[in-house]
Amino acid sequence: MATTTIQTCVYWNTAKRRKFCAIEPSLKSGATIAKKKPELLAEVALAAQKRDHVKHVTLTTGTTSTPDKGIDHLMEIACALKEATGLLIHAQFEPPEDIRMIDRLSDSVDTVGIYVETFDREVLKYVAPCKAEIPFQHYVDAWKRSVDIFGDSQVSSWKGSHHRVPFHFKYGRFTPSSTLTAMKWL
Ligand code: SF4
Repeated sequence: MATTTIQTCVYWNTAKRRKFCAIEPSLKSGATIAKKKPELLAEVALAAQKRDHVKHVTLTTGTTSTPDKGIDHLMEIACALKEATGLLIHAQFEPPEDIRMIDRLSDSVDTVGIYVETFDREVLKYVAPCKAEIPFQHYVDAWKRSVDIFGDSQVSSWKGSHHRVPFHFKYGRFTPSSTLTAMKWL
C-alpha cells in the first residue's frame, strides 16, 4: 500500500518545482484529498492487511513550508498505522532544516527515502531547482543520521519507480561519472 499524505507542495506554484512532478493535478482532478487523516489511513491499512494481505506501506508527502518539510504529519500517520496494523512502514521526505527532526520517525517508521534524484548538480538545477538549492552535504548528513536511526541498508537515496525511466534515460539521472563523483564525496 502506498499513499501521499499531503497532496500539496510548497514548490508547486514556483519555478522551483520539479519537472517530473504531478502532485497537484491529481488533487485538482478530485482523485484525492489535500491532507489525509491518520485515523482514516489506519482504517484503510487495516482493511488492506486483512483483505489483500498487504505487508508494508509506503508513505510520501509533498514538501511543506514548515522546517520539518512534512515529517511531523508523516509521523502522525505512521504512528496510527503502526498501532493499528504493525505493518512495515517506509517514509519519504526532503531533508528537514534540522536533521535531528528525522529522529521523530524512529518509533513508527522502519525505512526511509531521502531522494537526491541525481548526483549531477547541473542536471539537478534543470530538473529540480528546489533540490539544487539544498547543499549536497545536507543530504549526506541526513542519510548518515538516518542510517544511525534505522540501520544499514534501510535508507534510500534515490527512487527507482518505473514510470520515471524515460526521465532517467533523457537526463542521465545516475551517469557513471556523476555516481563516481558522489562516491568519492561520500
Ligand atoms: S517536493 Fe515532491 S511534491 Fe514538491 S515539487 Fe518536488 S517532487 Fe513534487
